[in-house]
This record gives sequence, C-alpha cells and structure tokens, in this order.
Amino acid sequence: MADPAQCCIKVTCRFRPLNSSEVARGDKYIPKFQGDDCVHMAGKPYHFDRVFQSNTTQVEFYNAVAQKIVRDVLDGYNGTIFAYGQTSSGKTHTMEGKLHDPDMMGIIPRIVHDIFNYIYSMDENLEFHIKVSYYEIYLDKIKDLLDVSKVNLSVHEDKNRVPYVKGCSERFVCSPEEVMDTIDEGKNNRHVAVTNMNEHSSRSHSIFLINIKQENSQTEQKLTGKLYLVDLAGSEKVGKTGAEGTVLDEAKMINKSLSSLGNVISALAEGSTYVPYRDSKMTRILQDSLGGNCRTTMVICCSPSSYNDSETRSTLLFGQRAKTIKNTVTLNVELTAEQWKTKWEKEKEKNKTLKTSVTWLENELTRWRKGESVPTNEQFDKEKAKAEVQALDSALNNGKMAPSPALGALPGAKLKDAERAKYEAELAKLYKQLDDKDDEINQQSQLVEELKQQMLDQEELLASSRCDHDNLQTELSRLLGENEASKDEVKEVLQALEELAMNYDQKSQEVEDKAKEFEALSEELNQKSSSLASIDSELQKLKEMTNHQKKRVTEMMSSLLKDLAEIGIAVGSNDIKQQESSGLIDEEFTVARLYISKMKSEVKCMVKRSKQLESAHTESNQKMEENEKELAGCQLTISQHGAKIKSLTEYLQNVEQKKRQLEENIDSLNEEMVRIRAQGKVNAMEKDNEVQSANEVKEAVEKQIQSHRETHQRQLGSLRDELDNKEKVITEVQDLNQKISLEQERLRVEHEKLKTADQEKSRKLQELTVMQDRREQAKQDLKGLEETVTRELQTLHNLRRLFVQDLSTRVKKKAEMDSDNTQSTAQKQKIRFLENNLEQLTQVHKQLVRDNADLRCEIPKLEKRLRATAERVKPLEAALKEARENAARDHKRYQEEVDRIMAVKAKNMGRRGSSAQIAKPIRPGQQPATSAMHPSNNKANLSQNNQPAAIRGGSNKPEKTLYS
Ligand code: ADP
Ligand code: MG
Repeated sequence: MADPAQCCIKVTCRFRPLNSSEVARGDKYIPKFQGDDCVHMAGKPYHFDRVFQSNTTQVEFYNAVAQKIVRDVLDGYNGTIFAYGQTSSGKTHTMEGKLHDPDMMGIIPRIVHDIFNYIYSMDENLEFHIKVSYYEIYLDKIKDLLDVSKVNLSVHEDKNRVPYVKGCSERFVCSPEEVMDTIDEGKNNRHVAVTNMNEHSSRSHSIFLINIKQENSQTEQKLTGKLYLVDLAGSEKVGKTGAEGTVLDEAKMINKSLSSLGNVISALAEGSTYVPYRDSKMTRILQDSLGGNCRTTMVICCSPSSYNDSETRSTLLFGQRAKTIKNTVTLNVELTAEQWKTKWEKEKEKNKTLKTSVTWLENELTRWRKGESVPTNEQFDKEKAKAEVQALDSALNNGKMAPSPALGALPGAKLKDAERAKYEAELAKLYKQLDDKDDEINQQSQLVEELKQQMLDQEELLASSRCDHDNLQTELSRLLGENEASKDEVKEVLQALEELAMNYDQKSQEVEDKAKEFEALSEELNQKSSSLASIDSELQKLKEMTNHQKKRVTEMMSSLLKDLAEIGIAVGSNDIKQQESSGLIDEEFTVARLYISKMKSEVKCMVKRSKQLESAHTESNQKMEENEKELAGCQLTISQHGAKIKSLTEYLQNVEQKKRQLEENIDSLNEEMVRIRAQGKVNAMEKDNEVQSANEVKEAVEKQIQSHRETHQRQLGSLRDELDNKEKVITEVQDLNQKISLEQERLRVEHEKLKTADQEKSRKLQELTVMQDRREQAKQDLKGLEETVTRELQTLHNLRRLFVQDLSTRVKKKAEMDSDNTQSTAQKQKIRFLENNLEQLTQVHKQLVRDNADLRCEIPKLEKRLRATAERVKPLEAALKEARENAARDHKRYQEEVDRIMAVKAKNMGRRGSSAQIAKPIRPGQQPATSAMHPSNNKANLSQNNQPAAIRGGSNKPEKTLYS
C-alpha cells in the first residue's frame, strides 16, 4: 500500500564497438564520452542516466541497468525495459545476447535467472505464480510466438483500463529452464515463419512479458508485477535499409508503430493532454510503460561509426526526449478482507461527511431561495469540507490501486465535468467498439489462417493423393503390361504345346514309316538270305557237278589208261602181231608222241601267244586310247587344216581376181600405149616440119611412159609381196583362232560335264546328309523312347509282380479261410476283375509313360522358355524392388515429417499442458487477481489443461503445488 510516486523514465545509452565491416571500410569511431552519463557527438553533448562505452560487458550492463528491476517486479511494481536503436546497433545483443552463453547472455536470460534466485531467497510464506507470454508485432499485427495459429491478436483494456493482449498464450513456469525453453520455442516459431530472419527482426518488435503474482499465506496479501522486455524494430527509416522490395503500404506500416512511439513520447514529453496511444498496437500495449504505472528503462543502442552518424544522433535525441517522461508508479496490491472492511468503514464515513455537506448545502440553498441571507458563519465552509474529504480520500487511497479521477472533481467544475463525463463515456463506448472490431478482426484473421492451413493441408493431401494416383496408375499400367506379357506367354506356351503335339504326331508317323521300312528291309534281307541260300545250294550243286565231272574225267582217264593198258596187253599177247605191227605201232607211238610233244609245244606256244596277245591286247588298247587321243588331235588339226584350206582357197580366189584385174589394167595400159604410139607415128608423119620438135616430144613421152611403167611394176611387185605377207599372217591368225575356239569348245564341254557331275554329287551329298540327320534324330528319339519305355515297363513289371504277390497271398489266405467251391468261383471272378483292373492300369500306365515321354520332350523347350521368362522377370523384379524402396523411403520421410510435426506439437502441448507450472491457486470464494485483470486469459489457460503449480520463497528449490 504505497502512495503513487512520480518517476521519470530511465534512459541509458549503450554504444557497441565498430564491427568488422565498419573497420574494413575505415569508418571513424565518433562518440566522445564524458563521465558516465554524457556523450559528445559532433561536439554536442547528450546526457542520459548512464552512458555505456563500447567495451561494456553484458554482465556490467545488466548489473547497472536491469538488475534492480527484478526486485521492483517482485515487490509488486510493473517494469519495462525496451531497446531502441537502428538496425544492428545492438538491441538484440542487449536484450537477448547469446541466450545460453553465461558470458554473452543479455538482459532477458539474466533477469529470468535472477527472478528465480531472488524468489528462492525470499520469505517462506510467499507463494509465487509466474506466467510468461511472447509475441511480436509486425505490420501492426500481433503474432503469438507461442502459438503460431494466433496471427492477429487484439488489444483490450481490463476493468482498470490497463491494456493487454487478448487471447495471447500464457505459459505458467516454475523454473528458469522452463522460461528459457519457452523463449527458444518462441524464437523457433519466429524463425520458421519467415524466410529472411534478419530483415524480419529489423522490422518487427518482439515483446516478452513476465507476469509475477505473489501471495503471502500469512497476511493473505497479494502483489502482482508485470515486466515487459521489448526488442524494438530498427529505428531507421525503412527506405534506408533498402526496402526496395517492400511495397509502400508495408513500408508505411513498418514505420507506423515506431513513429507513433515517437509521437507518444513527444506528447508525453510536451505534457499535452492527448497522448495518441491508440495509433498503434505497440504503443497501446506499452501504454502503462509510457506515462503510466510502470518503472520503465529505455536502452538507447547506438553505432559508433561515422557512417551511421545521423541515425545515431536522431537516436540520441529520441532518448533525450524520452528522458523527460514521467510515470506514476503504484504498488499493485490486492486488498485482504480486513483491508476491504476498513476501507468500507472509511467510505461509509466519507459518505456520511458528504451527506452532511449535502444537507448543509440544501438547507443553505432553501434559505437563499426564500430570500433569506445566510450569515457567513452559517454558510457552507468549502475549504473545510474539501479538507475533510481529502483526508478521508487519502486514507482510502492507501489501499487503492489506481486513483479515482471522479473524486478529484469539485463542485465548481460540475458543468465541465458533466460534459467531460459525457465525452468520456462516448469515448469509452467508441473504444469498446474499436476493441470489439479488433476482436472481430482477430477472429477473422485467425479463421483465415486456419483456413489457409486447412487449404495447405488439403493441397498437400491432394498432391499426395495425386502422387498416389500416379503411382497406382503406373502400377496398374505395369500390371496390365505384365498381364499382357503373361497372356502372350500363355499363347506362346499353347503354341509350343501344339507344335509339340504336331511334332509328336510327325515323329510317331516317322516311327511307323521307319518300322515299315525296317520291315521291308528285313523282308528284303530274308529274300536275299533265301536267294543266298539258293545260290549256296546251287554252288553246292555246281561243286558236286564239278566233282562229278572230275570223277568222270578221272574215270575216263583211268578207262583211257586202262584201254591203253589193254591195248598194251593186247599188244603184248599178240607177239606176232606185235612183232609185225610193232614197227608200225612204234612208229605210230613216236608219231603220236611227236604229235603230243608238238601239241604240247604248240599249246605252250599258244599259251605264250595268248599271253603275248593279251599283253598286246592291253598294249593295243593303250595304243588305241593313245591313238584315239591322237586321232582326236588329228581330227582337230584336220578340221583346222580344212578350215585353213577353205580360207586359203577363198584367199586364192581373191588373189586371182585381183591378178585378173591387174592384168586387165596392164592390157588396157598396153593398148593405150600402142594407141599413143600410133598417134605418135601419125603425128610424126603429119608434121614433117616439126620433126625435130616432134621427135623430142616423142622421146620425152616415151621416157615418161617408161618411167611410169617401171614405177608401176615396182609398185606392183611390192604390193604382191605385201599381199603374200598379209595372207600368211591372216592364215596364221585364222589357224590360231580356230585352234582356240576348238579348245574352248572342248573345255566348255568338259566344264559342263564336271558341272553336272558336281551337281549330281552335291545332290547326293545333300540327300545323304538329310538321311543321316533323320536317321540320327530317329535313332535318338527311338533310344529315348526305348529307355523310358523300358524303365516304365520295369517299374510296371515290379508293380505287377508286387500286385501278383499280394494277390496270391490274398488268394492263399482266402483259400485257407474258406475252402468252399462257391467261394473259389467268387474268388476267380474277383481275380478276373482284378486282372481286368490290372490290364486297365497297365494301359493307363503305358499312356502315362507315353505322356511322360512327350512331356520330357517338351521339357527342354519349356525350360528354355522358363529361362527366358526368368530373365525377363529379373529386371521387372529389380524395377519393382526399386519402386518399393522408393515408396518406403518416401513413406519413411513422410513418417519422419509427421513425427517431427507431432513432436513439435507435443512439445508445445507439453509445455502448455504437462509441465508443472506456477499458477495462481483457485480457491472457493476468492476472486483471482489476474483473472480480475485478464478474465478470459485464465479461462483459456485452465481449459488448456494447465496444471498450475506454485513456487514458494525461502526454499532453495521451487516447491510445486498442484491445484485441482
Ligand atoms: P540489432 O538487434 O539492433 O539489429 P544486434 O543486436 O543484432 O543488432 O547486433 C548486431 C551485431 O553487433 C551482432 O553481431 C552483435 O553481436 C554485435 N554487437 C552489438 N552490440 C554489441 C556489443 N555491445 N558488443 C559486442 N558486439 C555487439
Ligand atoms: Mg535485432
């Protein structure tokens, strides 16, 4: 319960060092410092509460400027620190610095840490509830940095007419880490929303609000303190920083809030009655900080570079103007029941006093109206009454948060006051309307944002579904293609099957043919063998005959010899005869012998001759061949000669003709000559006188003729020679020609012969190869078939054997079991039936074997096709795999993105919801102070599933208290 105290805004000035580009440019360091509160620029001094040189560290600056404000806020006062200056003059460096670097951190993190440290050192009975908000103002729109969906919040006034940002997020925090996390989150959101952060931050104001409420559990006294930490936009004109891309309206808007800040400060500095707070949202929010209930510190950030000279000076002027602003600071305290009671008593007393004053005045008025004159001592003592009321007022105001302006009105100013009240009411109404409109705008813009987000989501969804659609389409087409390919394959397979069937038919036909052939051949063989046998028998017969003949010959010989012997005997027995005829016989014998020897020699000769003849024959044959050859040659030459003769005769004829011509010529010439001679003679006789000359002429003519003849004869001779030569050459050439043509003819004939022979041979070869091939194939087929058939037969045989065994055992058993005849017949029937079955099975089996063989033949083809298909399948599989991998990757990426978003959301929610926070406890029958200030906010926070917690002073660690 403190008196409202007047205090000026504190203005400190901080110069940053020259930065590297300024040094590189060779800029001069222009400020000259005098003491710790004055700086000279261009010879002009500027005075501030403190001036900090470029080498001031963050901690020094904090200790000197901001530390005190922590105590103020915790003592129940409002506070504001804002940094003003051109872009890159060090505002953010001063306010934030490097948030997590103990040396380089700026004011905000240090304040946060100090607040908690201070709370831990305070009275145990104190319970603190801290909440923070973080928002930025860009183009006169308030964006919540803790909830990106809130993009255009409005400013409202609470019932004490203190402006606040309606609907902005408030985070309950109970540790410095939580505060820093909140700041990080807000900064993150700010970064995410914009493309060029430097440009954005130089054109927007960022405001960090710490709201601290404390309650003394013993005295039930409640204090509240708000601390605004403001990093303003760059104070330079937008044009200078190169806002070429910015449209004019935007540029105006960017400058608007800062120029309205300047206007507000000017109005406050000049003490004018109207302060244009409502010109911009920023000035409205900072209404309390500028000329209101707040301890305000302004940090003027300056560049020392000569390049920024003019900006720096205007910044310094701004600071000097701000220095004159006076704020009225009051303690924000909430009254306890006891305090309210005493206040009520006092109000009652005041009321009583006023009532007595009123009755006094009424009495006096009636007396005056009646025309009575009221003596001075009975008249209403204005001064006294005023003093009384003031005394009561001051007693009352001790517990009040804001002075009541209505009580300041005195009866003397009644009329004016009424007017003012009217105007004020009007104004309030209008402000209310304005606020409502603001609200509406806010709602609308949030709706727009939501819709935008939805639209984006929908678009994304659309894109993804489109993508899906495309994928499905490609998949479908691929499948269709595959289906088509499979169909083709099936077709091919069917075709192949048909081919196989046809092949099979062909083969079987061939086999049949072969079998027939084989049969024919075997028949032939049989015939041959039979003929051979007959020939053998013939041979045998012949042998027998020859033997017989031989026998006969020997017999004949022996008979002959016998005859001879008999003859000899006869000769011997007939001695006389012998003696008589011995000479004859001897003679005959000798003659016979001679004959025989003669014959022998002759035979020998004959043999020799025949041999000779044979050899002669062969020789003659050879000779004949040779002669034939020669003959052919001779014929050739004969024909040549014939041709030659023919040509020669022709030539001869020609020559004869020529000769005749020439002789005719000679004759004619002779005649001419004779005629000329006769003429000459006639002339000689006619011209006696001219004998001399005539003779001369004649001689000359004769000479001439002679020479003519000679040359003629010579020419003739040479011509004849030439002719002869030519003839010779011609004949030679003709001979040669003839010879060549004949030879050619002969060669042509030979060539023809060879050709036909060759063709014949090649045809035969072809036939043979074809035969060979066919035979090979047939052989192989037969072999394969045989093999399979034998195998299958073997198995069948085995099966049969087994079956028979089984059958026999069964039969035996049956026979053992019943010996009846009827049974045996039944058994027989059964056996027959079974045998039938067996036969059928065998047939089936054979069929199967055949099928199997067929199929085996098909196998290689099918395998080949399978291989081809597999090869085709391989790239398809690879493609599929790739596509699947891609899809998986996409999905993964999408999942990650979703996770990330969810995590961020969860984090946001968590920060808002799950973390333990310091909140104002809600107890029945007690109205929360902050809710009195921001009723809607608290509602919002509670509905956000906040778990309010409280920290108490005096403990080293924040003790969290949960309230339902
Ligand atoms: P603003 O926020 O005014 O645009 P910044 O705070 O971003 O400017 O400062 C611009 C640059 O100058 C930053 O790199 C910052 O680190 C540096 N800087 C500013 N003030 C100081 C200082 N007092 N000491 C050292 N460096 C500083
Ligand atoms: Mg900045």
